[in-house]
Amino acid sequence: MHILVISDIHANLDALESVLKEAGSVDAVWCLGDLVGYGPDPNPCVELIRGLPNLACILGNHDAAALEQIDITAFNPEARQAIQWTRNSLTVENSGFLKSLQETLVIGDVTLAHGSPRQPVWEYLLDTRTATLNFDYFGTPFCFVGHTHLPVLYYLPDDTRSARLLVPENFTQTTLTPRTIINPGSVGQPRDRDPRSAYAIFEPETGTWEFRRVAYDIAAVQERMRSAGLPERHIQRLAAGW
Ligand code: ZN
Repeated sequence: MHILVISDIHANLDALESVLKEAGSVDAVWCLGDLVGYGPDPNPCVELIRGLPNLACILGNHDAAALEQIDITAFNPEARQAIQWTRNSLTVENSGFLKSLQETLVIGDVTLAHGSPRQPVWEYLLDTRTATLNFDYFGTPFCFVGHTHLPVLYYLPDDTRSARLLVPENFTQTTLTPRTIINPGSVGQPRDRDPRSAYAIFEPETGTWEFRRVAYDIAAVQERMRSAGLPERHIQRLAAGW
């Protein structure tokens, strides 16, 4: 069974289409949240995701912000502007889909959470200390997260209570060992200085995980962002991958 694992699409349709095309035929799609926010295509992206067969999808912080479930006065002005634009753009049907999303899901051996199992919508897993604490907050062998837009893997070795970190620089494929927290990276706004879309393929029978990247038409997305009047900094960062 091949499961396509995606996260942080951020309303970037070209990126999402490139990922779906290159992933080819899969048995299921697991989406770890942040379908919208930053990008120019919230409705086409939500519609494409909603229509995917065997979809499991959870809520991200940008999705919650677009639904006005959280107060955005503490956000920086550019982030507020992008969220306001997204709120005004989303159709009733697509908002309804986002509203239906849960904060976590458990499927077989895997817990899905946008940020972390401890604080699913908000917490950033950026270091081994935070990751170590989070291993107490899920009961499955594996936990898949997004939110940081960085492909990364935290695992608990048998002999220790401290998580270790692996960044996929010299490998793309690995067999997950219990217990592991893993992030496929971001489809629509990668932040590891590689502007290509990031995603993963997971095979639950063998525990095989493959980090993947695919190029997409960044200039086309930037042009639509400019036409929509979205913040220039968010437009620039797509090309730099941060
Ligand atoms: Zn995000």
